[in-house]
Amino acid sequence: MSFFGRNRTPRTGRSPAPIVRSDSSGSLEPPSPGAAAAKPLYLSSPFADAALVKGNFKTIVMLPKYVDIMEWVAVNIFDFYTNLNEFYGVITECCTQYSCPTMSGGPGLNYTWTDRAGKQIVLSAPTYIDSVMSSVQNLLDDENVFPSKSNQDFHHSFPATVKHVYRQLLRVFAHIYHAHYPQILHLRSEPHFNSLFAHFLAFGREYELLEVRDIKGEPNVPVGVGLLWERWKEKGILEG
Ligand SMILES: [Zn+2]
Repeated sequence: MSFFGRNRTPRTGRSPAPIVRSDSSGSLEPPSPGAAAAKPLYLSSPFADAALVKGNFKTIVMLPKYVDIMEWVAVNIFDFYTNLNEFYGVITECCTQYSCPTMSGGPGLNYTWTDRAGKQIVLSAPTYIDSVMSSVQNLLDDENVFPSKSNQDFHHSFPATVKHVYRQLLRVFAHIYHAHYPQILHLRSEPHFNSLFAHFLAFGREYELLEVRDIKGEPNVPVGVGLLWERWKEKGILEG
């Protein structure tokens, strides 16, 4: 299903994010000694395959009959945001300026925030994630971006806006997996969290909201969850 093909319009007018924007670059830091040696828990059995939803996610992301594709994407974005926000809310006391001074998403990956002037800023993970969540909430509350009335059309920039949102939510997932998976396990929430993430990935790929590059990162600076995506593809849970 091509979401962007049907709505390819010049990227003019509304900026994808009203306050700040972020790009896809990550800064490279030397990994700490031994960091690459240990396999992360989220890639280890049985945690990597724990799920509430069994089987392939293709069917649950398919556009239902008689539903407008814009509406379908909008309601799914709302659900992903709401669920991810709730997960983060539960572990937020473990994600502090001290525990997470950077927005890490892999052993050598720290996402940077780009301000309006185009300057790269290193933010702590809690500050970065708060910025993501509040900017997405502002977009969801904006009737011009996410119209709730049936007689109001979606703006032509909607696909670009949701793609930007999607990339930022992916970074929040990547940070939680990389830095806080033990807390997810402690709460015995790994089946829920894995299913939410697999659904998020399946939907993002189906509607071209996520680039493979965003999921996997650069060869020398990989995203930690890129390997989880590969594993789920090998097991037939996700498609490419
Ligand atoms: Zn953190």
